[in-house]
Amino acid sequence: MERYIGKGVMRGIAIGRVYLYQKADIQVTDQKISDPAAEKERFLAAVEQAKAQLTRLYGEALANVGEDHAAIFDVHKMLLEDEDYLDAAAGEIDDGYNAVYAVDLAGTQFAEMFAAMDDEYMRGRAADFKDISRRVIRILLDLPEEEIRSEEPVVLVADDLTPSETVKFDKTKILGFVTVKGSANSHTAILARSMNLPALVCVDVPLADELHGKTCVVDGFEGEFLVEPEEEILSEKVVRKNQWIADLEALEKLKGQDNVTKSGKRIDIFANIGNVKDAEEACAADAGGIGLFRSEFLYLGRDTFPSEEEQYTSYKAVLEKMEGKKVVIRTLDIGADKKVDYFGLDPEENPALGYRAIRICLDREEIFITQLRALYRAAAHGKLAIMFPMIISVDEVKRIKQIVEMVKEELTKEGYPVGEAELGIMIETPAAAVISDRLAKEVDFFSIGTNDLTQYTLAVDRQNQKLEGICDTHHEALLRLIEMTVKNAHEAGIWVGICGELGADTELTEWFLKIGVDELSVAASAVLKVRSAVRELP
Ligand code: PEP
Ligand code: MG
Repeated sequence: MERYIGKGVMRGIAIGRVYLYQKADIQVTDQKISDPAAEKERFLAAVEQAKAQLTRLYGEALANVGEDHAAIFDVHKMLLEDEDYLDAAAGEIDDGYNAVYAVDLAGTQFAEMFAAMDDEYMRGRAADFKDISRRVIRILLDLPEEEIRSEEPVVLVADDLTPSETVKFDKTKILGFVTVKGSANSHTAILARSMNLPALVCVDVPLADELHGKTCVVDGFEGEFLVEPEEEILSEKVVRKNQWIADLEALEKLKGQDNVTKSGKRIDIFANIGNVKDAEEACAADAGGIGLFRSEFLYLGRDTFPSEEEQYTSYKAVLEKMEGKKVVIRTLDIGADKKVDYFGLDPEENPALGYRAIRICLDREEIFITQLRALYRAAAHGKLAIMFPMIISVDEVKRIKQIVEMVKEELTKEGYPVGEAELGIMIETPAAAVISDRLAKEVDFFSIGTNDLTQYTLAVDRQNQKLEGICDTHHEALLRLIEMTVKNAHEAGIWVGICGELGADTELTEWFLKIGVDELSVAASAVLKVRSAVRELP
């Protein structure tokens, strides 16, 4: 047995086989071949195989993440039928080049050609041509697909995972996550929690090919990753797993119960979500509403901006699913670790301190306006609250409110029924916490983003695993900022919640109630755990 220690970012036990997720380094050379006709046949067969993969992926994505995310596979299949693209690659093969080189060249040419177009939709196709070419090249080189290909659910082991990769995975195929890099507050860890899967980060396991397929245990309680454990240890872990499942079942009894302490103090417990499917889990967990819909996840794992119509459909679906319960949708928080090629963002020295979230929205207003239009149209279908991330000044809030008014007027002029929505901001920068007395006069609510507030207050990069040891989420400075924000909110007569991961930290539940936090928004998998903690309090 080999034992590796890491940091548990989602409690629970997973037992299964390792699936080593490695991003292959593809080598392309301009080597000439002697039989172009045979090479062309090989190329066309690879294209057919790629189309078959895409048909399957479309079906799987449709079932797992819905039509919005599935559509891209259909588009890719169509592009693989584009005669000009196929002719371009075949032409290179006729000139004696190997198929991999020919496809790479055609992919680059088409990507460049589309990237130079005026039309935004067409520009978005540039990344698609790169993507389909990569798929065909992987087949030609006999490299495994980047998707998980396994009949049975597996434990995914990787060096690191980006949020874009994680949103693409088929949840039903994964038992747990183990990454060499990563940190507790990274969005990948947050996604693991939203999927309710045991997960470890910072596990120093060598990613050798032999690891693939071995039996392993992910213990999110102990922060342990065991490879090929002895019978006796495996049995102990099975017992622990059964205990964990029994505890989860016991929590089920709390469904339908109030979040109230023994002395009658109440608090709302809402859920954090990233897509429409997650809203089902929030309902299943008996969340009182949605306290944070990270709308930027609608922008990840795809190659073009989601249209107003697509966004409207998603927001409306969540509002309808929640049947009149409050849904707080955060406008997009792209940037930092959430990278999206089609935004065309420049690389930055300090992305967490850079061009992200509301800064992009106030600079590229067309993106913001599309989202606000979708939100206000959806507002007619439920109880919507809109929240803005990464605020640092009163001026930003004033400008946002002007744009909001303009959007509402336009929609009304166009004849859309425009719903009402509370407007709030995230308090996730020390600047916002310090001026929260002034900000509170401008908005209907605050939601404290403790993940970023911790990183900026302590100057500890939330992505850097080396700093896990000094990332003290109970640091006095952070708690003082939270307390001050709550006090300032209440003095201005507005409500205040916590939507960062700290909201689910049951060591602080009593303190949150004491200082008067109105709402805690946590992963759906933590709703009942926090309810249980509240109900245990005097
Ligand atoms: C936060 O910063 O606490 C937060 C909820 O936002 P995110 O984790 O998406 O940055
Ligand atoms: Mg944040």
